[in-house]
This record gives sequence, C-alpha cells and structure tokens, in this order.
Amino acid sequence: MIRGVCLCGAVEYQFTAPFTMMMHCHCSMCRKHHGAVFATFVAAPYSAFRWVRGEDAIAKYKSSEHGVRMYCRQCGSVAPTLMPEAGLAIAPAGNLDGDPGIRPQGHMFVGSKAAWYTITDSLPQHAAMPQEYGGGMGVARPAVAQREGVADGSCLCGEVAYEVRAPVRMYHCHCSRCRRARSAAHTTNMFSSIADFAFTRGEQLVTQYKVPEALRFGVAFCTRCGGKVPRVSRERGTVVVPVGALDTDPGMRPQANIFVASKAPWFDITDTLPQFAEMPPS
Ligand SMILES: [Zn+2]
Ligand SMILES: [Zn+2]
Ligand SMILES: [Zn+2]
Repeated sequence: MIRGVCLCGAVEYQFTAPFTMMMHCHCSMCRKHHGAVFATFVAAPYSAFRWVRGEDAIAKYKSSEHGVRMYCRQCGSVAPTLMPEAGLAIAPAGNLDGDPGIRPQGHMFVGSKAAWYTITDSLPQHAAMPQEYGGGMGVARPAVAQREGVADGSCLCGEVAYEVRAPVRMYHCHCSRCRRARSAAHTTNMFSSIADFAFTRGEQLVTQYKVPEALRFGVAFCTRCGGKVPRVSRERGTVVVPVGALDTDPGMRPQANIFVASKAPWFDITDTLPQFAEMPPS
C-alpha cells in the first residue's frame, strides 16, 4: 500500500495496487500549478484508489475545456485526479510516501519545457502527450515578451503576476517539505531580496501556508487556481521564486542540488551540478 499526503496533512489517500505509469510532465500548466520545472505523475487502476481523508479540503480550478486542476485549499499541494470513466486514478508522485515501486518512464510536453531547465537523463522525450495516453497538444499560453534584466512570472489562471530582478542564487531542493509542497520530484527555487521583487497584479489573491512545526518553511499560491507563486518573507527580507512558474528567462541557471540526503527514492539526479546532503555552506 502506498500513501499520498498533502503538505498540511488535510488531504490523504492510498493506492492498493501497483502503479501502471509514471511520467514527467513539462507542460506550462503543470509548471505553474506545481511551481516546479516539471511535474511527475503516477497512474493506477481507479479501483485501487481510496480517500483516507480531506476530499472536502480540495479546491478545483478549471484550467481548460477538458482539464480540472485539484489542490488542497489550505496548503496548495496538488491533489489526485480521478477518472472513473477511464478506470484511472492519477496522483502527483511528490506527495507519495516511500518507494512507489515504479520509476519514471519518460518526459512529456517537452515542447513546452522551461528554457532554463535542461533534461539530462536518457528517458524517452515526447513533444506533447504520447499516443498511448491519448495524444493531444495541450494549451498554448500567450507569449510574454522577454525584458532585459527582468524575469516575469504568473500563476496558472493569470490573475497573479510578478517581476524579479537581480536573483542571487538558484537551487534544486530535494527536501521532503519541498517535494510535498510542489507535489514534484524536487523544487527549483530562485532567491532574491524583497527590494528586487514586486507583484504587478493580483497580490490580494495570494495566500501563504506555513508548516506549523517548521522554523520558516512555507509556500505561497493563488487561491483562485492553486498556482504556486513567490513567497515573500518579510522577516528575512527575501523572496523565494518557483522557477518553473516563470514566463520569461531569469538569466540564471540552477547552481546545485541541495538536501539530496532526503531526495525521492524514485528520482535519479543525472545533472553534473554540485550536490549537498543538506544546505550548502554559506
Ligand atoms: Zn494540504
Ligand atoms: Zn502537464
Ligand atoms: Zn491564479
């Protein structure tokens, strides 16, 4: 039995049969909803899925004519998508506990991949949805013009937008909180000072969730769509930006993998960046 749980613990579910599929998705909707450079999903037969609790804690956002995006309204973690007609239950692998007994089989929607992320493994790459999963091209987003020295970002529904200047560092973080918060293999965060960051619209839609037992760890997301947005920490004077949700190139590239001692058992790090068991020395 494999358990999945959101960051705050309100939403919990179980799978009682082996997973039949595990894929990385680079589509812009996943990148914005998760706040990660890619999302990873597992699928199992619908009959193998059970809610433990929190079905009523889930918010839904209709992201396209066919797609509905589910997330915990308290912490923003992405929740499972159930497709009883197709006999399938799909869950974000980042929220699973332990080893799911399956490994990623490929990348999809690499045609919409973030330019500031490079795929370094040797898994098959599909430009869109592979034919065996129904095909399809996804939803094109309006292009945002690149501005000199500025990275622009927005949430999934587009109501929240922001701009970042002068980022100071960018890390892939594999800690268990980041994996749950982003519902992904790892997060990729960029840090800047508050002075170099501004919400340009929709700030009133942003909510923050802080893990009660954590010193500082928290997430920020759009309450309308669940899309992850930068988290402003007034006490530290910094902003943590989910790089996967950006619309334009931040001009910086990931510099290290951190907290690799707690990385997901199903994810292999294949890039050549420095690795730190926890935080890198400052
Ligand atoms: Zn939650
Ligand atoms: Zn996707
Ligand atoms: Zn939104």
